[in-house]
Amino acid sequence: MKNQTNCVTVPVIRGDGIGPEIWDDTQPVLEAAIAKHYGDTRGIDWLFCLAGQAAFEATGDYLPAATMAAIETHKLAIKAPLSTPVGEGIRSLNVTLRKAFDLYACVRPVSWFPGVPSPVCHPERVDMVIFRENTEDIYAGIEWAYDTPAAAAMKVFIQEHCGSLSFPFPETTAFGVKPVSKQGSERLVGAAIDYALKHKRVSVTLVHKGNIMKYTEGAFLNWGYALAETKYADHVFTWRQYGAIAKAEGKLAADEAMKAAQIAGKLIIKDQICDAFFQESLIRPETFDVVATLNLNGDYISDALAAQVGGIGISPGANINYQTGYALFEATHGTAPLIAGQNKANPSAMLLSGAMLLDHLGWSEAAESVRQALRLTLFEGLVTGDLAEGKAALGTKEFAAAILHRL
Ligand code: NAD
Repeated sequence: MKNQTNCVTVPVIRGDGIGPEIWDDTQPVLEAAIAKHYGDTRGIDWLFCLAGQAAFEATGDYLPAATMAAIETHKLAIKAPLSTPVGEGIRSLNVTLRKAFDLYACVRPVSWFPGVPSPVCHPERVDMVIFRENTEDIYAGIEWAYDTPAAAAMKVFIQEHCGSLSFPFPETTAFGVKPVSKQGSERLVGAAIDYALKHKRVSVTLVHKGNIMKYTEGAFLNWGYALAETKYADHVFTWRQYGAIAKAEGKLAADEAMKAAQIAGKLIIKDQICDAFFQESLIRPETFDVVATLNLNGDYISDALAAQVGGIGISPGANINYQTGYALFEATHGTAPLIAGQNKANPSAMLLSGAMLLDHLGWSEAAESVRQALRLTLFEGLVTGDLAEGKAALGTKEFAAAILHRL
């Protein structure tokens, strides 16, 4: 244990593939940022825990009980990517961790660092924070193969409750279930609103497909608006309120109410159907700020937006339960096995996830220094191979050293 007044123990999973190399180059940068701002008064004791292939080789278990116990004790962890064992019945380790600690909010900030190549003309207009619900939806993995007794039972159930099997090929139809609850929707939307208020963001957009999936995605939208209009009544103005005023008193009155809300600095809660969101976030990304959405939409949206600002090599993430305080920070990309062990991986996503961990600890000055050092490095044209577009590239170690130097 270090001798700092405020020393936090953080379990670390170094991961598989490129995981160990990107972690080993991230750790000194985080430590330097902490030392720069707090000297000896704050520090982190990294508690190395096994998971993934390395864990299997050492213990015969992909996710050893000792690792789960360490996260349970410290309520925190940071992880590099893990390879998901391929095979029937073996669940993704990432999904297992999210479920075990009920990490219901997947938080992914997406903004552009000048110097990073992008496929869009104006990546600087992208500055969003995605709140993806992490525990429910069709993504929950409740599904049955077409030829199982469960699928047969589903057909009987649907026949009884819907009057007929209204799909074209009942004999070969498999089934999945899309659970979406009031509590699950409210805690996710609440987390997004809390974040937006705390960070003085302008809007929260509820992204949904409620026009088609009325009782799941539509309910998410309604529960989200209802929560905003009750719990956060003094701090927000919703498009639904705007619509109600327009209907009762006319558009002029609704415009006046919107203007008053904006002058009062209220957070605007709006919504967008998911397919339209994909188009709008490409054409007018500046109109979105914090985004709250269900699991599958969030999965697609996060990667699509990451692509606009330079791709998965530079996209951090956190999985958080804001009610219990459990939090798991992770680079969102995979183990990139083809470049593992070659000093070619981009450590930025890992580093930015570390900055999110520092923010979570309330050590925001250190977090901002990490981001600023990365920003300067990229601005000077120093990049790893994934961002080099044929130009000279630095290796993982040299890139991390350049960041450390600027710090
Ligand atoms: P991947 O993210 O590993 O790779 C996709 C592409 O991006 C590859 O071309 C890879 O070389 C490149 N890439 C990814 N991260 C990079 C980085 N930091 N720097 C430079 N290039 C990078 O996805 P995949 O190939 O689909 O999956 C490989 C393994 O990773 C699988 O076992 C999968 O289950 C696992 N995976 C884990 C996580 C996680 O732990 N969060 C997420 C996704 C995939």
